[in-house]
This record gives sequence, structure tokens and C-alpha cells, in this order.
Amino acid sequence: FQRLADGLSRSSKAMTDQVVGSFSKQPLDEERLDELEEMLIEADLGPYSAARIRNRFAEERFGKSADEREIKEALAAAIGDELAAREGDFEPLSGVRPYVVMFIGVNGSGKTTTLGKIAADLTSRGAKVLIVAGDTFRAAAVEQLKVWADRARADFMSRPTGADAAGLAYDAVERAKAEGYDVVLIDTAGRLQNKQGLMDELLKIIRVVKKVEPEAPHEVLLVLDATVGRNALAQENIFGNQIGVTGIVMTKLDGTARGGVLVPVAQASDSPIKLIGVGEGIDDLQPFRARAFARSLVG
Ligand code: GDP
Repeated sequence: FQRLADGLSRSSKAMTDQVVGSFSKQPLDEERLDELEEMLIEADLGPYSAARIRNRFAEERFGKSADEREIKEALAAAIGDELAAREGDFEPLSGVRPYVVMFIGVNGSGKTTTLGKIAADLTSRGAKVLIVAGDTFRAAAVEQLKVWADRARADFMSRPTGADAAGLAYDAVERAKAEGYDVVLIDTAGRLQNKQGLMDELLKIIRVVKKVEPEAPHEVLLVLDATVGRNALAQENIFGNQIGVTGIVMTKLDGTARGGVLVPVAQASDSPIKLIGVGEGIDDLQPFRARAFARSLVG
């Protein structure tokens, strides 16, 4: 978790140090509680969590003073409690074969990179992995995914620009069944300017995949970029309401001041947070652990 700790603590340091510094100098009063709540809202934790954490501090600590370390620990514990029930495991090698995973989210959120990191992890564990370039609209996206497939030593399927993504997904799952693949990773388009068109296409891919394998896709991972702050919440809302999302990946948590947005996203979503992206490298993906995340956020 060192990289996450580096990234998050860098971004949140200013905010926490200022408020925690003011906290530790004198007994906790209304003014400092206001500061705390404001800091949490500015850090994108959302009004509900901010209010709950404020109330908890008021109940447990009003009129008391504490040193900086103790305040930070209390804050991390409170944020960790907000998230504890929102952890989910991502385990594609659980026995179902082929295990079909779809990646959805707006362009630039980190779908391709996340898919590549997962592919590399799986092949390094000996799995036979098929990567499917389901964003058939952008030639550049297909090329970028191919680079990740080569790097991960995974097999790759694509179609010419403009081809039907659902047809490609169908063929891919059929091939995976016939050739004994462990995991199929399907990238998808993410242009949100034509929202309904995109949702229809994603739903069509899911429908068509189910014709080959009724239980598939076993995972639909929604990839959200933490650096867009509260926009991530709007994206969760759009995709979450229309597509059956099974888990969330929050990317770019390294070096952003907006990692706190993971809290309202986790609470708004019906599906758990499964993975976090903490860099552009092949190893920069981690399982989401609420308490470790909360500690890193506080710094
Ligand atoms: P896609 O359009 O959703 O497929 O997004 P990409 O996978 O192409 O990612 C967009 C950009 O974000 C690329 O430059 C990635 O290197 C970068 N990126 C993805 N995940 C992370 C992350 O966890 N941390 C950082 N710093 N950059 C990331």
C-alpha cells in the first residue's frame, strides 16, 4: 500500500494538517467541529459522511484535547467505518470457466489500463486470458489495448473500426468456451455524449453474451476516475441505474486531492468497491481495503 499512501497522503496532507493542527491545539469546540465538517466536504466525502463523522467527533471528543496522531487515528477510524461494508472481492479464478468480465465507464476513466493490469496479474498466475477490444469505434483504443495484451501475454481479439461490438463479444465468449480460456476481459466504448446509445450498446453486449453463456458476464466492473471528483458520483448514477454493475474500480487515486469522492460513490452505489488504481504501471492496482484506504486518505 505504500504507493497509495504516498499518493493520497500527498494530496490530502494540506487539508488534514491544517485542520488537525488546529484541533490538537485546544479542546474540541463547535468552531473546530465546523472546520472538520467543512474539510470533509471539501475533500469530496459528501455531506452525509461529513455530518456523521462530525457527530461522532462531537459525541466522543467534545471539550477534550488530543495530540495530532490521536486525532488522525480517530478520523481514519471514522472514515474506515463509513466504508467498511462497501468492500468487495474480485476473484476471476474462482472456478467458473470462462469467467467473463466486462469493463464499462466513460473514455479516459482508465478502463483499458485497468483491464491490462488485471490481465497481467492473471497471466502471471498461470491463467489463460482472452482480451476483447469491444470499443470498436476508436482505432486508437484498440491499438492501446493490444499493447497491454502483448505486455500481459494474453490473447487478443478485435474487429475493424465500426464493427458490431456485441457480435465480437459473442464470438469471443464462444471461442473462450471452445478453447478453454480461464478469463475473458471485454473492453467497451465509453463516449457519454450519446448516453442512451452507449447504454443500449452495453446492454446489447450483455444480452448477446448471455446467449452463449447464461451466467455471463460474471462481473461488470464500472471504472471511475477519482480525479473528476463529484462527477464520479454522477457517472456512478448513470451507469449504475441502467447497467447491472457488480463492482467499482476507482482509478487515479495516486496524487489526487479528490480521493475522498470514493466515500459517497461507495455509499451511493448498490455494488461494492473492488479495486483501486494507484498509478499507470502494470502493478498499480490493488484490492480495495476500507481501513487501509481511510488511513492513507488521512495521511
Ligand atoms: P479508458 O479510455 O477508460 O480506456 O482509459 P485509459 O485506460 O486509456 O486511461 C486514461 C489515462 O489514465 C491513461 O493515460 C492512463 O495511463 C491513466 N491512468 C489509468 N489508471 C490510472 C491510475 O490509477 N493512476 C494514474 N495516475 N493514471 C492512470
